[in-house]
Amino acid sequence: MVDKGTVYLVGAGPGDQGLISAKGLAYLEQAEVVLYDRLVNPLLLEKTKFDAELVYAGKLPQRHFLRQEAIHDEMVRYAQAGKSVVRLKGGDPGVFGRVGEEAAFLEEYNIPYEIVPGITAGIAAPAYAGIPVTHRLYGTSFAVAAGHRKGKDELELDWEALSKLDTIAFYMGVKNLPTIVENLIQNGRSESEPVLVIQWGTTTKQKTVKAELGTIVATVEHEKLSNPAITLVGEIASEYTGKSWFENKPLFGSSPLLLNDELSENVAKQLEAEGAEPFLYPRWHKTMLPLPQIEFDHYGEVAFQDAEDVTVFFKWLEEQEIDIRQLQAVFTAKTERAKAALHSYGIRPQAQSNAEAKLLLANDARFCEEGYAYQQTMLKTKVNSSKIVLNRLLEEENLTEIIVPSVAACELLLELYSDYPALRKLNLLALSPDVKQRLLSLHRPFSESVNTDAWPMTNWLNQWFEGQVDAVAGDFVHRSRQSSGTGEQAVSAVY
Ligand code: SAH
Repeated sequence: MVDKGTVYLVGAGPGDQGLISAKGLAYLEQAEVVLYDRLVNPLLLEKTKFDAELVYAGKLPQRHFLRQEAIHDEMVRYAQAGKSVVRLKGGDPGVFGRVGEEAAFLEEYNIPYEIVPGITAGIAAPAYAGIPVTHRLYGTSFAVAAGHRKGKDELELDWEALSKLDTIAFYMGVKNLPTIVENLIQNGRSESEPVLVIQWGTTTKQKTVKAELGTIVATVEHEKLSNPAITLVGEIASEYTGKSWFENKPLFGSSPLLLNDELSENVAKQLEAEGAEPFLYPRWHKTMLPLPQIEFDHYGEVAFQDAEDVTVFFKWLEEQEIDIRQLQAVFTAKTERAKAALHSYGIRPQAQSNAEAKLLLANDARFCEEGYAYQQTMLKTKVNSSKIVLNRLLEEENLTEIIVPSVAACELLLELYSDYPALRKLNLLALSPDVKQRLLSLHRPFSESVNTDAWPMTNWLNQWFEGQVDAVAGDFVHRSRQSSGTGEQAVSAVY
């Protein structure tokens, strides 16, 4: 349980959302306010309560968004207002994370706090490049070092001492790489010593390059690497021989936006297992509707759309103090999930019935078939965090494509297009022929011919869905500009 008025200084891990600690995640899930940094994976924000307040405390290298002092003030302000606050920081909060200053400030104001360590990039990025930072064969010491010097308040590195250590992970060191290399060589390291630079480690944008101390500056320049990156110097780097276990996953590098309907969670899990990082959009907040004026006795069949509808039904029976055995109705399940849920209540649903009066319990009228009365079970609303996350993903240019799982989801897509024109540049994947048909019929903005041979996502999804997946090109803004010459306006007019 989180305490009101307490600040939790939590390490979010280096990027991969799974690398936050169990304790950190539990705090995040319960927090009322979350102040998050730039290097925190935005998808972690979807773990928060639906009504949590999310505040960006990120700093882009050139633009100071919220200054450190302002972050201190915000933490104090929220805590004094009695909120439970998570201050979510990239990696480990105590490794170049200024947690010392933040904790001291909280102490000054008598605000209770906790520190939850995280996995630091200097260890995690090499691990995802397949390299341990210590290894019996490659020495006995490992150091972390800051590769940049911010101002005169910060200490200069002791290059002589540092150079004596076996493996060194430099943080924030890309810009300063020439100085780092020069100092290491001056202090006895060999020009032929192997070096790894790992950019955006543990994320779908991870990129690893290997060179020697003497050549790394040119290589990094040639490959256009920039921060955030870890520079790992030491013989252990010779173990990197190409793509790592992580970089080799079939869908490594894919960050699709997956429109969120009933099918999507399952698809998302499969994609994750293959190395992709899907963003389910939007996140739904569901609340059970109050007991309706309904005579369950009246129906000869009660059909359930999904597992949640089963749960709500039993809550309603409980409220009415009805014993399930009093109901004469035949129960049917519209999906495997509903069937499994009924099984867990000791009910074996039938495949169908020939009852005259039939009732469908579902959370959307679109599921209702002819011959059924419809009773809604839950109210679904979009959670605000999704937009915040989407904005961050767009800022970092993380998204690689959009997956449209169902015909119903096409509506969500159109909404997204009008709110976020930038998304129209991404290609679409339709998970069934009818979705593709629907997309093509919408306003004919899409082109059918996309060369997807080099696109692992389509191939992989195709195997999973038995060849049902089709790519439909986005890039609508671009083409409509060419044809009409009126730009954005033409686009809005179409929708
Ligand atoms: N507290 C963080 C470090 C913050 S300093 C931690 O423990 O990891 C910011 C620097 O960390 C970046 O300039 C970069 O050098 C490094 N860094 C953070 N995340 C990274 C990532 N995913 N991949 C590579 N380097 C990363």
